Amino acid sequence: MLQLNDPSLLRTKAFVAGRWVDEPGRGEFPVFNPADETVIASVSDTGRQTVRVAIEAATVAMAEWKLRTAKDRANILRNWFDLILTNTEDLALLMTWEQGKPLAESRAEIRYAASFVEWFAEEGKRAYGDVIPAHATDLRLLTVKQPVGVVAAITPWNFPSAMITRKAAPALAAGCALVIKPAAETPLSALALAELAHRAGLPDGILNIVVGTDAIGMGEELSSHPQVRKLTFTGSTRVGKLLMAQCAGTVKKTSMELGGNAPFIVFDDADLPTAVAGVMASKFRNAGQTCISANRILVQEGIYSDFLQELTRVVKKLKLGDGRDPETDIGPLITGAALDNVDSLVRNALDCGARAMAGGQVSILGGGFYEPTVLADVTPDMKVFREEIFGPVAPVVQFSSEAEAIALANDTSAGLASYIYTQNISRILRTTEALDFGMVGVNESMISTEVAPFGGVKESGVGREGSRYGIDDYLEIKYVCIRGI
Ligand code: NAP
Repeated sequence: MLQLNDPSLLRTKAFVAGRWVDEPGRGEFPVFNPADETVIASVSDTGRQTVRVAIEAATVAMAEWKLRTAKDRANILRNWFDLILTNTEDLALLMTWEQGKPLAESRAEIRYAASFVEWFAEEGKRAYGDVIPAHATDLRLLTVKQPVGVVAAITPWNFPSAMITRKAAPALAAGCALVIKPAAETPLSALALAELAHRAGLPDGILNIVVGTDAIGMGEELSSHPQVRKLTFTGSTRVGKLLMAQCAGTVKKTSMELGGNAPFIVFDDADLPTAVAGVMASKFRNAGQTCISANRILVQEGIYSDFLQELTRVVKKLKLGDGRDPETDIGPLITGAALDNVDSLVRNALDCGARAMAGGQVSILGGGFYEPTVLADVTPDMKVFREEIFGPVAPVVQFSSEAEAIALANDTSAGLASYIYTQNISRILRTTEALDFGMVGVNESMISTEVAPFGGVKESGVGREGSRYGIDDYLEIKYVCIRGI
């Protein structure tokens, strides 16, 4: 059993209208530790009925919340931020326990999650409208920004806390109430955040968390209920498309943070150690289970063999293990199905002529562990080039010219993150403009921060999270035309 400093952060029921609730007749579902597949908690399996109750509670509570001053809302968000940071160790333990990532990464995610709460608490105060120069002398034209309405949020397991605060903080700061459905694999992190929000003074009904295994039913309810005015989703492109279609029936606003297939381009003139360090951080963090993870490492022919040799040397040193062990570099993949998917991509690549320089198979450790892998001589016809890998597998592709690199990089329906490594300023400007992606890291692969806009183009999504733009997704612009001044 996990020892928390504050055991009351381990919550196992849904949080609706300020109360911890079950749904009669639906029982509980198990939460697993992906490192050893043991059951670590049983959580109330709530479904559509609880979602409806939560939406009603949010609608009622928002009527008062939206009328408060931005400063009043900011003070409560600031309390939440402080409580998240004070409880970092417990929140990180819960995360590693249910998600598997090394504790150091969980701690970093908690700080990252908290950063959105701090940032948007302040941004709420700056939701300015306009005074527009009018087209007649006795007219005055104004715009005001108002909260969009009740927000539904559906979040994934790979960043169980940050994907919640990146949505909840701007929505709350704007004056919205939320109903959040976290992934069934990682409900404990979400419920602990709700407990802290409650302690911070958030009124009942403003932040509701529904947990359960009926993702389809809950998703249908959240995307069709007329009182929900906006749905924000982070997850796979497949489910994102489905939810967008479902939201069309009631013309909801949507924000979609979907899958990626990030190119990581290393030109001949790149600094080799910097480029290898960039791949290590981007590719192997969270065992490769991040949407901005380097998915295709494109390396120019002049540096190809040196790069491959150095990358292989560093990858072979990585230590797989339980995330709670301080020696661990890489934890398990989230489920057996995820492990099988990664292995099938590697098998396909090897069958089509790729070479495994490191790893290349399921680990003998069992559980969800996959050996950190480097694949050389990968080509665009392989599945590993086309699909989001979501595992610790680095496919390396050789190219000769800048034009070829850009063509290879853009040869995907995804458009989330991309990376280039070069010392040439002209090339930096040319390639950042030519890449069809929402984000470009130049000689840097750790690009996420609350102060910059995160999001994708093409099938990677709609909208931006974080930054001064992130609150716009939760605000409507109302235009006021006054005659007779
Ligand atoms: P997923 O299968 O799409 O699940 C994400 C969320 O959607 C979970 O809460 C899941 O619930 C729920 N869900 C599944 N089917 C649903 C349905 N029919 N209706 C409504 N909700 C449904 O994605 P995942 O495998 O957990 O997450 C990995 C994906 O997320 C990757 O593609 C990754 O790139 C993407 N991602 C994107 C970003 C970004 O910012 N762009 C960030 C992180 C992750 P259950 O878990 O209960 O089934």
